[in-house]
Amino acid sequence: MPAVVTRRRAYQDGDRRMTGGLPRATIRKWGTLAALSVLGVCLVSVPVLIALVLSGPDAGRTPDAVAGAGDEADSATTARAASRCIATRGHYALTIDDGPFAGTTPSLVAAIAREGATATFFDVGERAAAHGNLVALQRHVGQVANHTYRHLHMTRLSRAHRLRELERTADVLGPHSAFYRDPYGESDPATDADVRAAGLTPVGWTIDAQSGGGPSEAIVARAMRVRAGGILLLRDGDRRAVAAVGRILGRLAARGMCTGRLTLRPASASSGRPTPDRIAVAGR
Ligand SMILES: [Zn+2]
Repeated sequence: MPAVVTRRRAYQDGDRRMTGGLPRATIRKWGTLAALSVLGVCLVSVPVLIALVLSGPDAGRTPDAVAGAGDEADSATTARAASRCIATRGHYALTIDDGPFAGTTPSLVAAIAREGATATFFDVGERAAAHGNLVALQRHVGQVANHTYRHLHMTRLSRAHRLRELERTADVLGPHSAFYRDPYGESDPATDADVRAAGLTPVGWTIDAQSGGGPSEAIVARAMRVRAGGILLLRDGDRRAVAAVGRILGRLAARGMCTGRLTLRPASASSGRPTPDRIAVAGR
């Protein structure tokens, strides 16, 4: 039974660096070429991947699926990856904000795939528009979601401007991206109303692993506090997150904590309507 998460509002000090734009990480030429070739091979095996993805949210999220290995190898590795994390203590949602970035997203995706895990990427629309190949990579290990188009302070914008930020991003990400996260964790009743008017469901977090700074091991230590049904926040564009994510996934898996998907929680079995302020972390 999925644990229920109540939306949490918090300011996201570490996110303020987005105001001036992140210093672009040094793009490793060969790493980028490798990521593009991985994507190319993935596209060749589209029928296999589609079948795996449709068979379950955790299916197909394996290193071989991302690397586009042969069909038999995909199936075998998928089975191994699915059994790698046994959720004796439950599921949590791994969420990664602010991407995609050419210098870090492929490494994050590879680390998540190696662990057979899944994540929700809250992408900045203008970055997603410029890096459609990276969005495709993200989708191999999870889902993408709306983090506005330019990562502005939504509470300071006009209603029309806010709606443009949401809708332009939705246009880039496609109709299946129902989740939204406030830049800087900033919201008020007016921004909430606009988010809902755009058909989106806001998602907070329970642990911000990069808040407070420190080396990657400090990020890992904070992430260990996530509980079943909780939502863990990491940020793309930061090498420390890349260095930390494999250890986070591995150590939590060793504790019986596995990644799950964000889903809308039905209000009741009778109405079947989603409850906007309540989301669930589903293991399957
Ligand atoms: Zn952000």
